[in-house]
Amino acid sequence: MKEVLVTGGLGFIGSETVVTLIEHGYHPVIVDDCSNAKEAVLERIETITGFKPSFYKIDIRDHQKLHEVFKEHSFFAVLHFAGFKAVGESVQKPLEYYENNLGGALSLLRLMKEFMVKNLIFSSSATVYGNPTELPLLETMERKEATNPYGETKIMIERISEDYVKANPEWNVILLRYFNPIGAHPSSLLGEDPQGIPNNLLPYVSQVAIGKRDHLTVFGNDYDTPDGTCIRDYLHVLDLAEGHVAALKKIEEKPGLEIYNLGTGHGSSVLEIIRAYEEATGLKIPYEIGPRRAGDVPVCYAGVEKAKKELHWEAKRSLKDACLDAYNFQKRNPDGIK
Ligand code: UDP
Repeated sequence: MKEVLVTGGLGFIGSETVVTLIEHGYHPVIVDDCSNAKEAVLERIETITGFKPSFYKIDIRDHQKLHEVFKEHSFFAVLHFAGFKAVGESVQKPLEYYENNLGGALSLLRLMKEFMVKNLIFSSSATVYGNPTELPLLETMERKEATNPYGETKIMIERISEDYVKANPEWNVILLRYFNPIGAHPSSLLGEDPQGIPNNLLPYVSQVAIGKRDHLTVFGNDYDTPDGTCIRDYLHVLDLAEGHVAALKKIEEKPGLEIYNLGTGHGSSVLEIIRAYEEATGLKIPYEIGPRRAGDVPVCYAGVEKAKKELHWEAKRSLKDACLDAYNFQKRNPDGIK
């Protein structure tokens, strides 16, 4: 069985990917500092898969401790999810974001170099495209300056990876640019578990659905879109997880550096999401229209042809399934994972 290191493997996307990796015969080893994830996720992964991955509760910037992990295992590849991810918070705490996200990536790359682990899959984001001037967004389009430090760290880690592969052509790095992952594991055991008030749309809607919050605020309905609300490309987190397995298969071909969008290729407005959620659950989601949120782009959706053609991957699950899975997770874990 191929051992793969998964940083941030207890988080929302990391944990779903760990499950999918196990189901595809890989042997994931998790490192997570639990700064934004619960240790209980590990048992839940075991409940779903019957397999308990090795887990190290460490900060990947702790060189010595990460060194021990590399020494104990023989990794075929690293999947790097770990990082701070709250856009608004990154504006308030830029140093923490640069220090954690860049420091983490550099520490990881240094150890990969030392142990000659030459395959990396990095969680990048559609945020690197900035405010789209042309749609759909294609991997060949230029990166723009990010509107916040979180996005800037994604851009910088992409650049660092590119420079590293240029200098070390025997390395393989796949940058996966995620669009908007939503949903949860259908078992309701794993899902998005934000601390405090959710920043993202779906967790917020789910908390309204179970009565934890009384209504959703829609951030602006005066955008130049058919219903005036922002459009995003929402994909089921399990589809996203499968995208990583497809990328791991691709990496065996030694592709050098490649970039893939992971999205559905289809955009939905905030109001369409509310409707889909209501149809999936039979519930009413009360909402109010509020002001625009700073930094939001009006429309963003992926071009998915490259991933289809080269990774043989496409998002298969419906928006309704994702809404229902998100709701069931929230209902079963009203106060998050414990
Ligand atoms: N949104 C909203 N109300 C909320 C949270 C989000 O109207 O409470 C909107 C937000 O303006 C954006 C979309 O939902 O248009 C998706 O936001 P999210 O933060 O989930 O993802 P983003 O695309 O910003 O990374």
